[in-house]
Amino acid sequence: IEFYTMNPEVLLSRIRVVLCRPSHPGNIGAVARAMKTMGLSNLYLVSPKQFPDPEADTRATGAVDLLQKAKITASLAEALAGSTFAVALSARQRDLGPAIGKPRETVARLLAEAESGEVALVFGNETVGLTNEEILHCQAAVTIPTNPEFSSLNLGSAVQVLCHECRMAAFSEKPPAVAQGVTPFTSPAATQDEVEGLMGHLESVMTATGFFNPAQPGRLMPKLRRLFGRARLEQDEINILRGILASTQVKTNHGRKD
Ligand code: SAH
Repeated sequence: IEFYTMNPEVLLSRIRVVLCRPSHPGNIGAVARAMKTMGLSNLYLVSPKQFPDPEADTRATGAVDLLQKAKITASLAEALAGSTFAVALSARQRDLGPAIGKPRETVARLLAEAESGEVALVFGNETVGLTNEEILHCQAAVTIPTNPEFSSLNLGSAVQVLCHECRMAAFSEKPPAVAQGVTPFTSPAATQDEVEGLMGHLESVMTATGFFNPAQPGRLMPKLRRLFGRARLEQDEINILRGILASTQVKTNHGRKD
């Protein structure tokens, strides 16, 4: 018996591969090829330096169709809109970023999440990797175990390793380590843009009450973002929190003397 209730191909079709600010079109082509060999097809490019490009087509060989339907966005938030869970690929643990997990365990979790919505694997730029800001948009992080003296994989190779794990997991007959039990009163997982909406709402209320000073932001917003990422908010919960925020706004307005 298969653990995932969903057809493996459908499960794989729900995984986005997001490349943040890729510099080399050849790598974009290599990524398309890596994805297609493993049955993934949704490629997102956040501000690619050069794309489309003949070098990308050459390196993609038979996977140019993925390049043709790749979605280009200006920000990571835009590439994650409508998805519910994102995993950052990073060679090292970052300040305030989600705790680093292992590829196999994290991919099992990614697929469990994919049963109920769209999910994403997020990769960084070839030279600088992911920014702290980009990492904070992800709810989990993975480092591919390597030779400690030489730990940075080529972008296309890193994508290949993760896509292979996804395929193995999707077609596996063994239950993954992270089985999700059915809990009562659950509503669908909040999408990334719904969480962004909550963050924006909180920021404006906290600014109005004086709890948050935009001139001296400190780590308040990143810490809240990390908290929400850990909590895996549901749509109902977002509505409750935003309802509470809205009620304080009504109260503040009524209480105004001017
Ligand atoms: N010099 C960069 C590495 C860039 S490699 C840095 O220090 O972050 C390009 C991308 O491939 C990375 O941003 C990451 O998404 C992925 N990658 C490369 N090696 C990796 C590893 N060992 N574990 C996880 N991701 C890796």
